[in-house]
Amino acid sequence: MISGLDPSGGAGIQADIQAVTALGCHPMPVLSCLTVQDTRNVYNATATDPEIIRQQLECLAADSPIHAIKTGALGNAAVVDVLVEFLAAHPDIPLIADPVIKAAGGGDLADEALIARMKERLFRHAEIITPNGIELTLLGGDEDETRAAHNLLEAGCQSVLATGGHGEGEEIINTLYSHDQEPLYFYIERIGGEYHGTGCTLAASIAAGRASGLSARASIAQAQNYVLRAIRHALKVGNGQPVPDRGIPWET
Ligand code: PLP
Repeated sequence: MISGLDPSGGAGIQADIQAVTALGCHPMPVLSCLTVQDTRNVYNATATDPEIIRQQLECLAADSPIHAIKTGALGNAAVVDVLVEFLAAHPDIPLIADPVIKAAGGGDLADEALIARMKERLFRHAEIITPNGIELTLLGGDEDETRAAHNLLEAGCQSVLATGGHGEGEEIINTLYSHDQEPLYFYIERIGGEYHGTGCTLAASIAAGRASGLSARASIAQAQNYVLRAIRHALKVGNGQPVPDRGIPWET
């Protein structure tokens, strides 16, 4: 997994590590950026030296099998370039890319250059990208979910899981758009409220499913159930959004 450090422990690499561990996999965390952040918002961020990330990825791949990759906040466009080079050399590793752009509090986690580089270079390597409603509108250039998702497919994405957590209604509907089939709808109970780090947790859980050998569809279903349970036990960490409790062991 490649994502940023959120020192509140709600989102980013900590969310990834906890979710992947709870789902029975071993996470190998590569840190893309450091943020100044609490449960309310992001106030500052700085990217890791891309050369260190390159060395970390090469070092890990030379030593261990990597069964899936999950990306979150990436810091800057140069980090995307390093990542794309690595993915091109390892085309068989499924990539689940969470296209993180903004924190829930509105703070920026990606500048224009990073957003453009993800669209132009990264997404085509991803088996699934997992935008929330705001990210989908921004990336797909359309307020309509279906049109925005198709714009991304046309731009080279293999599949787009449009997450519905920010919407309304009794159930959350996450929709998987792909090239060769009709959209697949995944329904899950809506608890209500907003939780810090939900998107990270969902994408990391999908990657854990893929790393365990589940299909993309089964990985999404398992991830949704895991996130629902973590939200049910959410922790009041600070004055902002509660944090999903990812520490509860997952029994399959
Ligand atoms: N990655 C980092 C480092 C973050 O700080 C955040 C949000 O604050 C995210 C990812 C995205 O969080 P969420 O899972 O709430 O979309």
